[in-house]
Amino acid sequence: MQITVPSLLRIKPKAISKIGKYLAQKKCLQIALFWGEGIQELLGETVKISLENSEINIISEKVWASGHLEDIFEQSLELAGSKTKAILAIGGGKVIDCCKYMAFSNQIPLFAAPTAISNDGFCSPMSSLLVKGKKRSLKTTLPQGVIIDTEIIQKAPPKFFFSGIGDLISKHTSIFDWKLSFKRTGEYVDDFAVMVSFNALENCVNYPDKDLNNLEYLQIVASSLLLSGVAMEIAGSSRPASGSEHLISHAYDQIAQTPSMHGLQVGVASYAISYLQEQTFHKVEKDLQRTGFFSFMQTNPLNKQEFLEAIKLAPSLKENFYTILSEKNNISRLLKFVQEDEFINQMLK
Ligand SMILES: [Zn+2]
Repeated sequence: MQITVPSLLRIKPKAISKIGKYLAQKKCLQIALFWGEGIQELLGETVKISLENSEINIISEKVWASGHLEDIFEQSLELAGSKTKAILAIGGGKVIDCCKYMAFSNQIPLFAAPTAISNDGFCSPMSSLLVKGKKRSLKTTLPQGVIIDTEIIQKAPPKFFFSGIGDLISKHTSIFDWKLSFKRTGEYVDDFAVMVSFNALENCVNYPDKDLNNLEYLQIVASSLLLSGVAMEIAGSSRPASGSEHLISHAYDQIAQTPSMHGLQVGVASYAISYLQEQTFHKVEKDLQRTGFFSFMQTNPLNKQEFLEAIKLAPSLKENFYTILSEKNNISRLLKFVQEDEFINQMLK
């Protein structure tokens, strides 16, 4: 099996103003530029100047808002008929996911510049897209370059940051589920992917100065999310980054009237799942507290009734995916726990 990991990584202040230089270093001189909604207004001028200074030729430029696979196919065909040698995607999860898929189908490199770090999707081998109106996770390749300007991600509202934290803390429970599946079903576990994923989490939660104004901390969190994405590429599946806590979050997306952010849902679900796993219980609670995730959720709680419904729906969402929720009586045990536990009820309303 061959894996491809990003060879250009720039996670630092003012990285966006050097984007032209980075593309030139990789000899990607003819690009298609895609913006997430509202991003061009903020960064358009800085990026244009940087690309011009490095003599990067913008073959096409678009604001990308659709998550539909049909639109992505159409755009991919357009790219295939042009002189585009690489794609540059600047913005949030949607534009990066779509561009990952376009780059993959055209076999050209992608340079991703996420403007928020709300989950580990910006550097994962999967794109979450709408196929005939239904959300699906499709196989793609990782970006060749990831450029994260820590001064820009600092300006994003705190919910984006805490969503990223929740997605990282969920590695405790996802890795447990993966190993449990090995014990029960013989599913192959890639030890290296486990190590990468777990170290990514540890780097973040053990960092001493967890202040959102500290750009070095943001750099650590962004790198950890990136490594979590790379772990999925190493494993050849989402297992090192996604277990039963992710199933609950996907179910909550379907059930909730107003779903919250992916990582916020996943973080709360991780705590719930850790009760069943026992081994991860105090670790998850400790990490939710010391990262400030718990305090954030106290003021931005999920809906309790919908969360309980999501637990019931979760195991049916993914076939042949063994987790702690697959074990006998665990759904009813978990429902009782969520009804009664004081800590989780401060993150639910
Ligand atoms: Zn996730």
